[in-house]
Amino acid sequence: MTTTGAAVDYTAAVRALDAARSVTILCHVQPDADTLGSGLALARVLDRRGVPVRVSFADPAELSAGLRTLPGTGYLVPPDQVPAEVDLLVTVDCGSTGRLGRLADRLAGATATLVIDHHRSNTRFGEINLIDPDAVSTASVITALLDEWREPIDADIAHCLFAGLATDSGSFRWVTPGTHALAERLLATGIDGAAITRTLMDTHPFAWLRMLSTVLASARLDREAHDGTGLVAAFVLASDLSGVRQEEAESVVDIVRATAEAGIAAVFKEARPTDERRRWTVSLRSKDSGPATDDGADVAEIATGLGGGGHRYAAGYTTFGEPEEILAQLRAALG
Ligand code: MN
Repeated sequence: MTTTGAAVDYTAAVRALDAARSVTILCHVQPDADTLGSGLALARVLDRRGVPVRVSFADPAELSAGLRTLPGTGYLVPPDQVPAEVDLLVTVDCGSTGRLGRLADRLAGATATLVIDHHRSNTRFGEINLIDPDAVSTASVITALLDEWREPIDADIAHCLFAGLATDSGSFRWVTPGTHALAERLLATGIDGAAITRTLMDTHPFAWLRMLSTVLASARLDREAHDGTGLVAAFVLASDLSGVRQEEAESVVDIVRATAEAGIAAVFKEARPTDERRRWTVSLRSKDSGPATDDGADVAEIATGLGGGGHRYAAGYTTFGEPEEILAQLRAALG
């Protein structure tokens, strides 16, 4: 009922969690509500069972204001407090080891590793891989796992899982059969779904409006890209982010991708300068959300080719260079 991945086997994951003396849960870098909500929900269940648990992520040093409202942030430890050798190591919402940042080296020192994810591009880097590419969110996979494990979902766990589900489904726009049933079940615990989504997705400082006006004014449309699918691209320069938080840049792609003339949207976000080379994280979106549509492209394939990964309709990668160079690089990859 919670996911559509009937073929996914939860037995090995449940067995590993049952056997663990302690658990270290790692979320991906630049954590979003799905990775953090999944991690904190699982941590709460383990804590309730009396199993020592910690949750961590490599970057950045501080959580966004929105994510700090999730219950269970007390389980978080800074990355340097994650020992080199741990018992069971669980990664949540990480498609590849690169998503762990500098914590990726902890995989080698773990007694056992369990990868829980929903990215189709997942490289299955764990000893146990619980991957459901049909699940809307990792939070959905966690819910099915808890059902299999016969662990009840209380309001705090539901809050964390709802945050992941609401975020990864784009506020219930990209849904599959079962998405709303899961939301209903989580809401029935008494959580305030409207407040959770408003806090996580619809709250920005005033300076965000200025940033948007600059960034959107610079957007470019290339109708010929990818055999006429069309590409709309926008750049968020580090200087555009003065007065707003880096996370504010994440909202840009949701506006840019609405462009009717382009099946593919790209937003290039410049990292705060650390050396001479300009570093960018790139968000790709496609209107192709499944076999029923044919006006887009599989952006996971494109992102993977550029060293990243993701879903067919939402993916990303990291690149270096000047704006013209990185746009040309993407244009070449699109064909
Ligand atoms: Mn996710």
